[in-house]
Amino acid sequence: MDTDHAADHEMPSRVETAVALLLRSPHLEVGQIMELMDIGDREFRDMASRNGDIAQRLEERRLGTLRPIKSEPRRCKSCREWFLPYGHDRYCSDACKRTAQFAQCHKR
Ligand SMILES: [Zn+2]
Repeated sequence: MDTDHAADHEMPSRVETAVALLLRSPHLEVGQIMELMDIGDREFRDMASRNGDIAQRLEERRLGTLRPIKSEPRRCKSCREWFLPYGHDRYCSDACKRTAQFAQCHKR
């Protein structure tokens, strides 16, 4: 009766991870985040109900206790993943930076 089908949902998807990250930015409204990630109301509610990180961020936003982050989430120019940059990083990792440099050399 209590069969657990939750195994499929144990790992948060990349989208969920990105949403949780973007929710940390006080400069982004939930609506903007949904637009950025191309998700709808229902999908967002589903994510919040199964992803503790997202639920917590939403609660913190509601209470105004969101902890400030050092830098705004940014989208990696290479792999398009969202990440928290250090300084002026435009890529999420050295691997992505190398990929981008390589691509640049071979452009034209
Ligand atoms: Zn990247």
